[in-house]
Amino acid sequence: MIEVKNLVKKYGNHLAVDHLSFQIEAGKIYGFLGPNGAGKSTTMNIMTGYLGATEGEVLIDGHDILKEPEEAKRHIGYLPEQPPLYMDMTVREYLEFAAELKGIGKAKRAEEITEIEKMVRISDVEKRLIKNLSKGYRQRVGLAQAVLGFPEIIILDEPTVGLDPKQIIEIRELIRKLAKKHTVILSSHILAEVREVCDYILIISKGRLVASDTPENLEKMLDDHTTVVIEAQSSPSEMRLILKNIPGIESVETEDAGDYVTWARIREKKGEDVRERIFRAFASAQTPLRTLKTEGTSLEDVFMQLTQTDTLPEAFAEKIQREEAE
Ligand code: ADP
Ligand code: MG
Repeated sequence: MIEVKNLVKKYGNHLAVDHLSFQIEAGKIYGFLGPNGAGKSTTMNIMTGYLGATEGEVLIDGHDILKEPEEAKRHIGYLPEQPPLYMDMTVREYLEFAAELKGIGKAKRAEEITEIEKMVRISDVEKRLIKNLSKGYRQRVGLAQAVLGFPEIIILDEPTVGLDPKQIIEIRELIRKLAKKHTVILSSHILAEVREVCDYILIISKGRLVASDTPENLEKMLDDHTTVVIEAQSSPSEMRLILKNIPGIESVETEDAGDYVTWARIREKKGEDVRERIFRAFASAQTPLRTLKTEGTSLEDVFMQLTQTDTLPEAFAEKIQREEAE
């Protein structure tokens, strides 16, 4: 449905989008996840034809967004980071105006606007000036504008930014409702939001795609090694001695916490569970074990690892290489 191929955007010498390629299929909610400055808005602006690319192409249902903008844009509704609202218009006037711009025939306009106003729950404010609306209402007007014409694809750039928790929940519900009939792409720098709403996540960092998969698979990819964290009343060398003979341990890092207390992070070999062995080994050495817990990998960890370090975790680097080779 959307194909993005080798997209590059340079601002002067600054590479904001760095050879980005991905595909969007119909019927899902996609999340662009990345820290501020990752290149999400730039990418969305290029995908929707608001901005030209330095290199690469974007095809919307087979139509190049630059070469056949009208044909391509017909499939897309867009809510940019700064919604293009006219503060001195009433909600209804603004939507009439936006419908006209989108080429929605006069006959259909009124009925369609009424339907969308109902859907995003702004019917009761349709006669009010946009400048007098709360941020939450304004965002819903922006959303209504994106939905006008019922395009197949709806692209929303940080749709919940600056909203209060109640408004965020309302916008998320609306997005889920929209996704029943439309393909939705939204961006966010908040992991929890993307995990909550999206079926598929594209993680973007420094203009590059560093991972793309379902939230479940992203979590699994780093999950095959579990780390066991222990704390015991011993010196680091005594602890290492006890751990040395336990099968299933790949590596151990110890940290002397002083007062004859040592912490260790124990990486298990794939598929092993060494917790009981550790417990028994410390018991038979008569060394008091004060803490024993596992550290799973959460999507939060994946996100942090992918976007805050320069080196990719092995699993991702391998996956990306495989995909590039295909
Ligand atoms: P995001 O939406 O992920 O926060 P952006 O796409 O807005 O990221 O920005 C990506 C990078 O490009 C940032 O480093 C930003 O400073 C830079 N950038 C964005 N727009 C411009 C512009 N008009 N001129 C110069 N640099 C820009
Ligand atoms: Mg942005």
